[in-house]
Amino acid sequence: MTNNNNKWGINLDEVKCPDCGEKQPALRIPKNLEQLVHGGWNCEKCGCKMDKHGNKIIE
Ligand SMILES: [Zn+2]
Repeated sequence: MTNNNNKWGINLDEVKCPDCGEKQPALRIPKNLEQLVHGGWNCEKCGCKMDKHGNKIIE
C-alpha cells in the first residue's frame, strides 16, 4: 500500500527560527537565487538564515 499523503512533496510542517523561535511563513518569497533553488528563509525577526528544514545556515 502506497502512502499518498505527501504526493506533492511539499513540506507543510511548521518551521521555526533556530535562533529566536519565530514561526516562518509557509509561503515564502525567495530573496535570492539560493533560496529559490534550495528553499529556506531569512528570519524577519532576527535576520538569521535557515534552510527549508529550519536548520541554521552559518555564513
Ligand atoms: Zn529569528
